[in-house]
Amino acid sequence: MAVDLTPSPDVAELARRTAGFVRDVVIPVEEANDGVARTEEIRATLQSGAKEAGIFAPHVGAAYGGHGLDMRGRAAVFEEAGYSLLGPLALNIAAPDEGNMHMLEAIATDEQKERYLRPLAAGEIRSCFAMTEPAPGAGSDPGALATTATRVPGGWRIDGHKWFITGADGAGFAICMARTSGRPGETGGATMFLVDADNPGMKPVRHIDTLDESLYGGHIELVFDNCVVPDEAVLGEVDEGFRYAQVRLAPARMTHCMRWLGIARRAQDIAVARAAERELFGSRLGELGMVQQLIADSEIDIAAARGLILRACWELDQGRSASQSTSIAKTFCAEAIWRVVDRAVQICGSLGISGDLLLGRFLREVRPFRIYDGPSETHRWAIARRVLRRHDAQVAG
Ligand SMILES: Cc1cc2nc3c(=O)[nH]c(=O)nc-3n(C[C@H](O)[C@H](O)[C@H](O)COP(=O)(O)OP(=O)(O)OC[C@H]3O[C@@H](n4cnc5c(N)ncnc54)[C@H](O)[C@@H]3O)c2cc1C
Repeated sequence: MAVDLTPSPDVAELARRTAGFVRDVVIPVEEANDGVARTEEIRATLQSGAKEAGIFAPHVGAAYGGHGLDMRGRAAVFEEAGYSLLGPLALNIAAPDEGNMHMLEAIATDEQKERYLRPLAAGEIRSCFAMTEPAPGAGSDPGALATTATRVPGGWRIDGHKWFITGADGAGFAICMARTSGRPGETGGATMFLVDADNPGMKPVRHIDTLDESLYGGHIELVFDNCVVPDEAVLGEVDEGFRYAQVRLAPARMTHCMRWLGIARRAQDIAVARAAERELFGSRLGELGMVQQLIADSEIDIAAARGLILRACWELDQGRSASQSTSIAKTFCAEAIWRVVDRAVQICGSLGISGDLLLGRFLREVRPFRIYDGPSETHRWAIARRVLRRHDAQVAG
């Protein structure tokens, strides 16, 4: 089957407008705030600007105020938004809200959509996705899920411990993954629950101090202690949480790649501008061979990352699981994006290390991407196992 990766004229136009908005409106705010939106006022101002520009929440359907972009359309627009650390927040396509909207649109009941998706898509509330637990609970291995949900009259009681829950501070609700059957170590038996922020059984413990700062609402440790939710809080079906999580995980992996690819491109642009201006040893920096190699290698990484994203998005748009292609793209992008930002720092010398450029901030922000959404090692392990299964199937005939 032919693979067509060209964006439609409408998508190309939306991407062009997004790029203009990021350049004219978002980057000045980003540069004035060291790349971090620390107040609701900054978030609200950026989001109302994106609404006025007609580029807000472009991934959700028209019924929720968006453009209903498919995954290839998201690739074009999200990369432009990601050119600034604050672009995704401005467009309401930042993690984890964007992935949560995607999943709610796909699997929530009509009532759940009205209650959670509509205000989330409008930027009136934020959300979080609570899966990861301190050891020995769920992390790279989701089957280790230890948080439990036990039947009580009219609903469920959730008990457990979560951490690294991005955006939980100030979120209107959490999507919590809890075990409704089986034991830690067994696959299956998980269910997703919608938990309102004012539920007294969901208790924030602390903000975890991390390398990165730009994901709004921080990374929070949470305890679920006698957290009672009604039956209507079940998202999808009981015991099918891992299957439903796939609806979110593979696309969310790609949208992370798209946004961070924007930052890689920005880092490369900063480095190239410096290489074009700076004179040393009687020539421009960019005319020295080893610097040309750094520039060329980053250009190759950016082009290859974009190609892998588009290929995986095309598969997702065909309704395929795309597990292998999203694992390949995620692993490559997380590492390539890091390399590009790191090379940009190197090209800029001491200036690259300083706070005068945002490159140091970019470096801190992209490093965790090699761990969340599946560490590189977990993806490599999964990729190799699929390859071996394919080999075994071929041998078996
Ligand atoms: C900034 C940030 C934001 C996050 N946001 C969220 C969030 O919003 N919600 C949420 O639920 N979670 C979130 N997480 C958690 C994230 O999903 C987990 O960190 C990730 O799944 C890895 O789990 P772990 O940290 O428990 O590492 P572990 O499972 O302890 O793994 C440690 C290391 O083991 C290695 N490893 C893993 N698998 C294999 C393998 N098969 N073979 C060999 N080596 C392997 C890797 O090097 C890995 O880094 C976030 C994490 C970070 C850092």
